[in-house]
Amino acid sequence: MTAAAAPTPAPPSLWAATAPPAPPTPPLQGPGETDVAVIGAGYTGLSAALHLAERGASVLVLDQGEIGWGASGRNGGQIVPGLKHDPDDIERLMGKERGRLLVEFAGRAPNLVFDLIKRYAIACDAVRQGWLQPAHSPAGRLAAERRAEQWARRGANAEALDRAAMATMTGSELYCGGWIDRRGGTVQPLAYARGLASVAIAKGIAVHSNTSAQTLTREMGKWRIEVPRGTVIADTVLLCTNGYTGDLFPGLAQEVVAVNSYQAATRPLSDNIRKSILPGGQAASETKRVGCYYRLDRDGRFIIGGRGTRIDDPAPHLFERLRRSAREIYPQLADAEWSNHWSGHIAITQDHFPHLLELAPGLLAGLGYQGRGVAMSTAMGQLLAARAQGAATADLPLPVRRPKPFPLHRFRVPAVYLVSRWYRLLDALT
Ligand SMILES: Cc1cc2nc3c(=O)[nH]c(=O)nc-3n(C[C@H](O)[C@H](O)[C@H](O)COP(=O)(O)OP(=O)(O)OC[C@H]3O[C@@H](n4cnc5c(N)ncnc54)[C@H](O)[C@@H]3O)c2cc1C
Repeated sequence: MTAAAAPTPAPPSLWAATAPPAPPTPPLQGPGETDVAVIGAGYTGLSAALHLAERGASVLVLDQGEIGWGASGRNGGQIVPGLKHDPDDIERLMGKERGRLLVEFAGRAPNLVFDLIKRYAIACDAVRQGWLQPAHSPAGRLAAERRAEQWARRGANAEALDRAAMATMTGSELYCGGWIDRRGGTVQPLAYARGLASVAIAKGIAVHSNTSAQTLTREMGKWRIEVPRGTVIADTVLLCTNGYTGDLFPGLAQEVVAVNSYQAATRPLSDNIRKSILPGGQAASETKRVGCYYRLDRDGRFIIGGRGTRIDDPAPHLFERLRRSAREIYPQLADAEWSNHWSGHIAITQDHFPHLLELAPGLLAGLGYQGRGVAMSTAMGQLLAARAQGAATADLPLPVRRPKPFPLHRFRVPAVYLVSRWYRLLDALT
């Protein structure tokens, strides 16, 4: 057996500073046996575990760090309905029937989050006032109008906003229009992850943090997971490691390109300034190719995020770029004090759809949310649970795929970096 790794604390962020304490989740020591082992205690893994336990399975969850150590504890907390692709495109790309199922599923994903929060009384500052996509350019405004029309045609509470309406909603004069999707909202992301973990534990699920899955092997029709101080034997294993996927299963890390997203938060703003920013309590994500996303938290802090580049780049200049963007959107933030800066990995797939993968008998993975996975990863957990318990592929809104690694994966990260720079230039020109 290998020596135990040192505990990996929650990475510093505004969310780590303001979330309720995590429930106790001691590292796994000794042998364990379970129906389903879940690797990764972010939203995908915790939601899968909960949905499995609700159907009577025994479940054990492992994470190499704390609960929500990955993107689930570090994200912007914006509950975004839908996928990267617009509904008409989803139906064109996936085929009419599967596309229709997927559009419905992705559009309903915020309901799943808000229902779980309500059903289990998860204290995570949930607010459901909608999600805005403000546009800087006529092209962005047209795209936003198309998106609003496509969703509204399908019954969503969504509408296009003109320049004046967007200025009222955001409190910024920067935009020429956009749209609002009232199905969206915000949560305190780490509080939501910790809340899911507490519910899982109350349902009898064994949750072990600081327990890295080091090897995964097939033995006599079961899966065997070695961790530093123990072993787990499981009928089924769910890999829920998204942008933090390592080499536990060959080729899985190459299914996505992981890039960093950065965030910065101010100290609580004065009442006057607070009231001038997003007065209706919405969250906002710009339509730009490499835009910013922003919101307030319950104490009136302004939190802004943006796409970064390589995952190994600490890049103080990226935080400065965020603060500059904040001042461009809201000149009243010129003197704001910035108290927290942090980053995390998002996972991008080749086709910009989330992937539900069957890697081997009894071995499933769900990943690839393109940086908009708070709702989608919770929904993916539900799908993984259904598939683990035998749901037919035809009944699922996402196809169950074999892995298809990015060709020339190791050149993809620099390629994504170059494309981001190119997109920034196009954004600046328009
Ligand atoms: C900075 C940032 C901002 C974002 N903002 C938003 C937003 O506002 N709205 C939105 O919808 N989405 C947002 N996202 C995306 C969203 O956070 C993710 O899509 C979602 O959290 C993915 O959840 P997950 O459970 O699949 O993965 P994660 O939460 O990343 O969990 C994966 C877990 O796997 C664990 N792990 C990996 N390997 C092993 C191993 N061998 N053994 C044990 N454990 C292992 C990791 O420790 C990690 O905790 C953002 C992401 C980032 C990084």
